[in-house]
Amino acid sequence: MEIKKNISLQKMNTFAIDVKAKYYVTITSKDDFFTLLQTPEFKNNKKLFLWWWSNILLTKDFDWLIIHNNILGKQINNEDNNHITITVWWWENRDKLVMWSCNNHYTGIENLVAIPWLVGASPIQNIGAYGVEAKDTIVAVGWIDIEKKKYRTLSNEECQFSYRSSIFKKELSWRFFVTDVTFMRKKINIDTSWQKKYDYSPQIQYGAIISKLEEKWVELTTLHPQQVAATIREIRENKLPDYKQTGTAGSFFKNPIISYQTLEKVHQIDSSIKHRAIDEKHCKIPAWQLIENCGLKWYKKGNAWTYQNHALILVNNGGATGEEIVAVAHYIQQTVQDKYGVLLEPEVNYI
Ligand SMILES: Cc1cc2nc3c(=O)[nH]c(=O)nc-3n(C[C@H](O)[C@H](O)[C@H](O)COP(=O)(O)OP(=O)(O)OC[C@H]3O[C@@H](n4cnc5c(N)ncnc54)[C@H](O)[C@@H]3O)c2cc1C
Repeated sequence: MEIKKNISLQKMNTFAIDVKAKYYVTITSKDDFFTLLQTPEFKNNKKLFLWWWSNILLTKDFDWLIIHNNILGKQINNEDNNHITITVWWWENRDKLVMWSCNNHYTGIENLVAIPWLVGASPIQNIGAYGVEAKDTIVAVGWIDIEKKKYRTLSNEECQFSYRSSIFKKELSWRFFVTDVTFMRKKINIDTSWQKKYDYSPQIQYGAIISKLEEKWVELTTLHPQQVAATIREIRENKLPDYKQTGTAGSFFKNPIISYQTLEKVHQIDSSIKHRAIDEKHCKIPAWQLIENCGLKWYKKGNAWTYQNHALILVNNGGATGEEIVAVAHYIQQTVQDKYGVLLEPEVNYI
């Protein structure tokens, strides 16, 4: 374990923001982390833990210690005909866990395909896409309590998951270092008879998924997680920029959850705004539509833009600073609030 000095972070964050860190270290084991805890660099500096750097916006040079988690490995804990429980420290490739699950007939995370996530960060913001969230398959999260210098685990319930949030973003914020995540997946039984029908309940309620499947004439009774993953990958590839070419952190804002009273007010201003019920009193409205209907799709300020195919995606079109992206984000928030009276909350972490 080597603590490096004055490192450029541009190639590491998916927003491709060019800032420097005073200290930078890569951790490859829990022991490394406990050793790091004893160093003056750890004791005397502010710290930032990172995994894949795809959900952050770096806004300045860091007089801090940046700790990159690179603990590797996976372990199958239990497997029977119906389920598998697996603990994952990290996975070399963001898609590998999803594809491994699909290829082995496990269901649960196929809708999370093509998100540039590493397993470890998934519980922190409870990542989600196309009607599925990380919380649906997480059994436990292993983490190091920095104050108590102890390895601990939290059950799914203790993680207090909610929309793009968890205990790690609330009372444990800045006090934890996630090391591993345990998932459970359901196995589908492959019926080899001529009447073929799989006991699989795919989450394909989103219009775009159904239309794509219909377009391809996919037989729904024998739909396989691999096909769902392939379909969602195709949709995402058409809609989102490739972060290796264009700096981005995906959706920049959360979809607002509002009361039905507020929805009524929004509809008086613009009856086209869609909504999805959350409970009796609340619904979720699409942030992209609020932004687009304010005329801010492909809004450009210098090299900070909203993406031409999707108003919710902010991009660094080359050379934008973190502050320029923040300025565009603030402008969007203000415009949307002025028009609809709804505050857009960032999904991306500004640091
Ligand atoms: C093109 C694109 C599309 C995306 N689409 C989606 C999507 O559909 N749904 C979705 O939910 N997200 C999406 N994202 C956002 C992102 O991929 C996820 O939020 C992912 O979980 C972030 O993982 P990460 O490993 O990059 O975390 P990082 O960005 O490295 O970190 C995220 C946060 O977790 C903290 N953190 C990281 N590692 C640790 C650790 N070991 N211990 C303690 N704290 C830690 C960081 O300090 C930071 O605050 C997208 C991003 C991009 C670039």
